[in-house]
Amino acid sequence: MSDTKSGFRIERRGLDLRFRTVTMTAREWLAPDYVRVRLSGSDLAEFDSPGADDHMRLFFPESTPGSIEELRASPSREYTPLAWGDDWLDVEFAVHGDQGVAAPWAATAPLGSSIGVGGPRGSAVLTGAPGSWLLIGDETAIPAIRRFAGQIPSGIPARIVIETVSSGREIDIDTPVEVEWLHRGSRPSGSALIAFLESLTPTDAVGDDPFVFIAAEQSIVKPGRALLERWGVDPAQAVVKGYWKRGESEYHAAH
Ligand SMILES: Cc1cc2nc3c(=O)[nH]c(=O)nc-3n(C[C@H](O)[C@H](O)[C@H](O)COP(=O)(O)OP(=O)(O)OC[C@H]3O[C@@H](n4cnc5c(N)ncnc54)[C@H](O)[C@@H]3O)c2cc1C
Repeated sequence: MSDTKSGFRIERRGLDLRFRTVTMTAREWLAPDYVRVRLSGSDLAEFDSPGADDHMRLFFPESTPGSIEELRASPSREYTPLAWGDDWLDVEFAVHGDQGVAAPWAATAPLGSSIGVGGPRGSAVLTGAPGSWLLIGDETAIPAIRRFAGQIPSGIPARIVIETVSSGREIDIDTPVEVEWLHRGSRPSGSALIAFLESLTPTDAVGDDPFVFIAAEQSIVKPGRALLERWGVDPAQAVVKGYWKRGESEYHAAH
């Protein structure tokens, strides 16, 4: 599908890179392995994230940092801004056990703990009107899927497919179409999504001029790109991204 014929495009925008200090003021468990955290602070004035799958870098200090420099030197991980106001920012975390820095912090840090927020430093903004939508991801992609789903006009063909571990782990998501939940059970993360992607033939296209977003564990990228090829979707008109990598800490996705 060529860019010129399409009714939408993905527009790259640079943003001023700012570093902010914020404090956890609320924690709400939406599933046993999924938590929403509210970050608050006056530094959040003018925070902006125009793209639904924007990411920012969260910095997690081991103890109360003595200076901004110390905070910026702390371990950092990438997260999606979900919603924000003048002095608050909501972020949702897939809690994947006690490994790592970010997920354990979201699950256990006392209210009042401070972290740093860097960025977003750039945005990919979907402008115009796709003819149809396919949104696919694991738990880590739910915040981006929530934001994209908010852009889908009712009546436009759309499929939203999300993988969780088992039934009972589904999360309420405001969408114009019912979410199709897949369960990986004891299989590796991404297994159910990969099987789903591989089952889609050219005749399963959701509709014309689709916007396709696929994000999950890194092994999703190959079958995701293969689907674009089968459907004749220009990769520049789609997002296919590994959001984390099995066995690797602080994975850096190609942006
Ligand atoms: C653009 C972008 C946006 C993202 N947005 C979000 C978001 O909004 N919410 C969100 O929850 N995540 C999001 N992620 C994914 C998140 O950055 C990673 O899951 C990150 O590795 C978590 O950091 P950690 O410190 O908890 O674990 P790490 O220290 O990075 O990893 C420790 C171990 O845990 C494993 N691991 C990491 N993540 C998972 C997982 N989800 N399930 C199972 N095992 C895992 C690693 O393979 C490693 O073995 C996003 C990633 C990208 C690239």
